Amino acid sequence: MKYISTRGQSPAKTFTEILLAGLAPDGGLYLPEEYPQVTRAELDAWRTLSYADLAYAVLSKFATDIPAADLQAIVARTYTADIYNNGRADSDFSQITPLRTLVPGVHILELSNGPTLAFKDMAMQLLGNLFEYALDKQHQELNILGATSGDTGSAAEYAMRGKRGIRVFMLSPNGKMSAFQRAQMYSLQDENIHNIAINGMFDDAQDMVKAVSNDHAYKAAHKIGTVNSINWGRVSAQIVYYFKGYFAATQSNDEQVAFSVPSGNFGNICAGHIARMMGLPIGQLILATNENDVLDEFFRTGAYRPRGTDHTYQTSSPSMDISKASNFERFVYDLVGRDGEKVREFWSRVDAASSTDTAAFDIKGSDCWHELAKFKFSSGKSTHLDRLKTIRELWEEYGVMVDPHTADGLKVGLEQRRPGLPLICLETALPAKFEETIVEALGRKPERPESMMGIEELPQKVEVMDADVMQLKAFISAHIPN
Ligand SMILES: *Cc1c(COP(=O)(O)O)cnc(C)c1O
Repeated sequence: MKYISTRGQSPAKTFTEILLAGLAPDGGLYLPEEYPQVTRAELDAWRTLSYADLAYAVLSKFATDIPAADLQAIVARTYTADIYNNGRADSDFSQITPLRTLVPGVHILELSNGPTLAFKDMAMQLLGNLFEYALDKQHQELNILGATSGDTGSAAEYAMRGKRGIRVFMLSPNGKMSAFQRAQMYSLQDENIHNIAINGMFDDAQDMVKAVSNDHAYKAAHKIGTVNSINWGRVSAQIVYYFKGYFAATQSNDEQVAFSVPSGNFGNICAGHIARMMGLPIGQLILATNENDVLDEFFRTGAYRPRGTDHTYQTSSPSMDISKASNFERFVYDLVGRDGEKVREFWSRVDAASSTDTAAFDIKGSDCWHELAKFKFSSGKSTHLDRLKTIRELWEEYGVMVDPHTADGLKVGLEQRRPGLPLICLETALPAKFEETIVEALGRKPERPESMMGIEELPQKVEVMDADVMQLKAFISAHIPN
């Protein structure tokens, strides 16, 4: 299996070759040359597999250059009931991603039982083990540099802690995260984890990461890498739980289901799209946005109007406050019939778009618009008031507490589902991470899993720094042994 770029101008690479890479050299994103197909016999055999065995079955179709026994060992130590057990009440951790049924035909797929209580752990934990494996083989080291406003940074740190050959330098805005989020990251005492609190906003931290990454000489000399959401390894790991959720919600492989996905960077739902392209019987993929509704607008009208940061709202589902979804290009590549030239044309207009009033591209009335229906997407939007209402209704009717992002997915999923299709709503985080909104909705604090009790009291390890790139570079250099 080789990987090609969505812009069609980069040489094909293997899975391990792109594992530590970001964008392709032509600025595109990597995708498999062809999606591997799952036969009916395979689907039947996979139905009863454990999560780790299913992950092996799916991933061995993508990571064809990793020896079978090695890949099997990697997934076996990634997807264990120890790692995906945060002590939350009444979950079946042996399933890794247990399915919770609200009423017959409406389910929540629990993806937040990992160490940081968000679905990002599902992919990041695998990435940590894959990185360690690949670096070991190449006798290489990697220094991961990133900026976070919450979920991604903590998931990366918990995945990379204690890993041979890997160091993490994670920037966060000083004093801008919740006490819980700060404690989650800063209480890690591992020698290879470095938390850096920047006196500024998230964007300042992000700009510093970009400045270091654009200094190609420094980047190469210091073996700097990233783990952002375009990483193919992350997308491929997320395909697995679509299969797992499908098997849990159905009796036979003749049935179809709908998935509802709270979306930001389009990484999670992109994995669902690929699972469907592989042959998983998904009848509907429902994309949910919050007030930042660029993608909802596209799927409803065909117009793609990415907004600038000044038109990106801060909402109570903050991990979806995104107006330029980085993985969307992967879907558009399939939509335009895998025509790299067409993608280059579209994205040259995206990059040039300066106003939010005009669409960067609009497929209404073109062949693409007719093609779009084949991909089975529906979409909708959920606002702060919808979120509060959904959280309240779930709590009052079922005694189930959901976080604000999952609430967005439930609201849009219930609204958009086709009658007759079982609905599987992906849970992207636990309510414990978003205490303020839960208190606003329910007048009470969310339960906190045992593993997170009292973490605010633990000693913290963090370097406070001004938004100064020179200082950051000096810090990184000083913490890499020669
Ligand atoms: C990252 C994240 C999302 C958005 O997922 P994408 O893959 O970026 O679409 C939704 N909810 C939570 C809690 C997240 O952390």
